[in-house]
Amino acid sequence: MSAPGEETGQVGCAGEVGRLAPSPTGGLHVGHSRTFLVAWLMARRAGGRVVFRVEDIDASRVRPGMAEQAMADLRWLGIDWDEGPDVGGPHGPYLQSERFDRFEAALDLLKRAELVYPCTCSRSEIRRAASAPHLGEEGPVYPGTCAERSAGDARLIRDRPFAWRFRAGEEPVAWDDLFRGRLEMVPSAIEGDFVVGRSDGSPSYQLAVVVDDAAMGVTQVIRGDDLISSTPRQLLLYRALELVPPRFGHVPLVLGPDGRRLAKRDESIKLSTLREGGMDPRRLVGWIGETLGMGSGEPASPSEYLRRFEPDLVPEGPVAFDRSAIEQ
Ligand code: GLU
Ligand code: ZN
Repeated sequence: MSAPGEETGQVGCAGEVGRLAPSPTGGLHVGHSRTFLVAWLMARRAGGRVVFRVEDIDASRVRPGMAEQAMADLRWLGIDWDEGPDVGGPHGPYLQSERFDRFEAALDLLKRAELVYPCTCSRSEIRRAASAPHLGEEGPVYPGTCAERSAGDARLIRDRPFAWRFRAGEEPVAWDDLFRGRLEMVPSAIEGDFVVGRSDGSPSYQLAVVVDDAAMGVTQVIRGDDLISSTPRQLLLYRALELVPPRFGHVPLVLGPDGRRLAKRDESIKLSTLREGGMDPRRLVGWIGETLGMGSGEPASPSEYLRRFEPDLVPEGPVAFDRSAIEQ
C-alpha cells in the first residue's frame, strides 16, 4: 500500500504522528472542526498516523459525555484516528486522567534538576505582588516571590497548599511554525515562572500535554492559535525533560459573522447540533475546504482534500463563519 505522502511528495513522512486532543469541557463547534481537519490532513497527507487523546485533567471543568460526543462529531465529519480511547493502541491509556503516574514522574525529574520550586502564593497575593499590575496575556505575571526556595524546601511547608513553578528564565524561545513561519517569544513574559504542578496534586496543562505528546510519539502538534503562547513554555519543558519536541502549527481561529470569537455557549454552531439536525457533514467540510484555499465550498469529505491540501494555504488571519454558508 502506498501512503498519500509518497504519491504527492509532500512535507513530512510516513512516520508523522498527529493528534486530536480535545478537552471534554463543552461541545465542539465549527472552529474546532476546522482545526482538527487541518491536523488530520497534515498527518494523513504524509501517510502518517493520528492519535485521539482526551485532555480531562481539570476535573472541575469536565462534563460527562463530552469525550464521546467529540468522537461522534469528528467521525461524522469523516475524521478518523488509529489510536484512542475507543480503538485502543500501544500508547494508552488515552484519557489524561488515567496518566497521572507519568506526570508525577516528569515532575520528579524537574524537582531533581532544581528546575521547579514550591510556590505558596495565592492568586490574590500574586495580583498584589505583581506591582504596577504587570499583566501578561494570561493575567498577572508571577513576580518570583518564592523563587529562592529549592525543590527540597517543599518538606518544610506544612501549613499551606503549594504549587510547583518552573523556572522560565529570561531567554526567548523560537520555533518554525508550520503555518506562520519563524516565531519567537519570551516564555517568562507570559506568566513568569509558570505552574507545572497544581496544589491539588494534578499537573498543569503545560506539563501534561508535553509528557503525553512525547510519550505518544507525536511529531506534529496542530492546534488553534489561541494556544500559541503555550508553545514557548512547552518547548522549555521539552528541553528540561530531554525530550525531542514535535513541530508546531497554529491555525487561526474561526470567528462569528460579527468578527468576534465564537461563543462557546452558542448551540447553533455546535457540531452535535448540526449532526443531530441532519445536516450533511460534507457541506461543513466543503466550507472548511474553501477557507483553506481548496475549492469554492462544494460539499466534500476530508479524504478528497488529501492531495490538494497545502500548509501554505492556511491563511494567517482568522476566518468568519456564517451559518448561511452551510445551509441549503
Ligand atoms: N486540550 C486543549 C484544548 O482543547 C488543546 C491542547 C493542545 O492542542 O495542545 O484546548
Ligand atoms: Zn509564590
